[in-house]
Amino acid sequence: MANPSLLILAGDGIGPEVMDEVKRIIGWFGDKRDLTFVVSEDLVGGAAYDAHGVPLHDDTMAKAQEVDAVLLGAVGGPKYDNLDFSVKPERGLLRLRKEMDLFANLRPAQCFDALADFSSLKKDLIAGLDIMIVRELTSGVYFGEPRGIHIEDNMRVGINTQRYTEAEIERAARAAFDLAMKRGKKVCSMEKANVMESGILWRDVVTEVHADYQEVELSHMYADNGAMQLVRAPKQFDVILTDNLFGDILSDCAAMLTGSLGMLPSASLGLPMANGRPKAMYEPVHGSAPDIMGQAKANPIACILSFAMALRYSFDEGAEADRLEAAIEKVLADGARTGDLMGPEDGTPLSTTEMGDVILTALDESL
Ligand code: NAD
Repeated sequence: MANPSLLILAGDGIGPEVMDEVKRIIGWFGDKRDLTFVVSEDLVGGAAYDAHGVPLHDDTMAKAQEVDAVLLGAVGGPKYDNLDFSVKPERGLLRLRKEMDLFANLRPAQCFDALADFSSLKKDLIAGLDIMIVRELTSGVYFGEPRGIHIEDNMRVGINTQRYTEAEIERAARAAFDLAMKRGKKVCSMEKANVMESGILWRDVVTEVHADYQEVELSHMYADNGAMQLVRAPKQFDVILTDNLFGDILSDCAAMLTGSLGMLPSASLGLPMANGRPKAMYEPVHGSAPDIMGQAKANPIACILSFAMALRYSFDEGAEADRLEAAIEKVLADGARTGDLMGPEDGTPLSTTEMGDVILTALDESL
């Protein structure tokens, strides 16, 4: 089979800085593991706006549809804050998600032992945490019609509509159950079936899909209770399945359990392509961090872990993903820290490139 293809869209701010480290890691897998990717690069966000007047050129969109996976850095920055809504950097990202139909957003919340002290929760609640949140990404209240602000009886009324079809719920549920089969075989589905009809349908459809996954233990929880449980006893969860709105909030909550934004990867998956691989985009959760751009302070680990997710979910290279994650675990255990993982009294942080260096060394040692 031809070498798998990757489109790198580094974007703005620290995006290109952290992506430079990912490119070195990709090169390492080519050199040392005979795992060679056909890599192309293009512009997104403010960088694309500067070059083309749009946050994503049609040619770039077409390339994203053809490759096996897209790796994205980050978009946005103060320079673009006053642009018209239609050409804001984030529109490039939303266009990719929408046109690739990336309906399942995977956000792991994993606590590396060496960083357990960084959490706002007690260490014993968080050490060893490994949760995956599957958030439905292309429907629900962010997209439902009718929407808008109208005048009724001389008063402004704001309207958004939570709308889910059975098919939309079913495909998100399948993504969650498939993942659970590769992990701890537990899915907790979160909605508000007590007060929302869309929640009742969500619960019904998830229960129906579960019939095909008897090995997986399914539970249901109201999303507000889910938020409480996430900060009370997060290790009770394996895979959490939820809709777009609740997922937006719950995944940020779960993410921060683990400490720093600079550590958090994500994947957005769509339907399988002709070669069986899902349409996919991998990106760190953090933004373009304009406050530290150009200063070699960015932590590249979130972006590197996003590539590890690509190895696992797009390329079926779970053992190599494990190798990369273990290398990161090792350097953290050895005390390697970028500035975001340290207090002011903790000594000199590693630069972005130095963090890349120690991870590459740990990869070499893993052979
Ligand atoms: P941000 O994630 O860029 O930064 C928040 C804070 O976390 C900053 O103090 C930053 O320095 C720090 N931080 C983030 N990533 C880091 C890393 N890898 N290493 C070390 N520190 C890191 O969020 P923001 O400041 O709210 O937004 C900045 C810009 O990014 C805005 O234009 C926003 O719209 C955009 N944004 C883009 C995305 C994306 O591309 N997916 C996501 C969020 C925000």
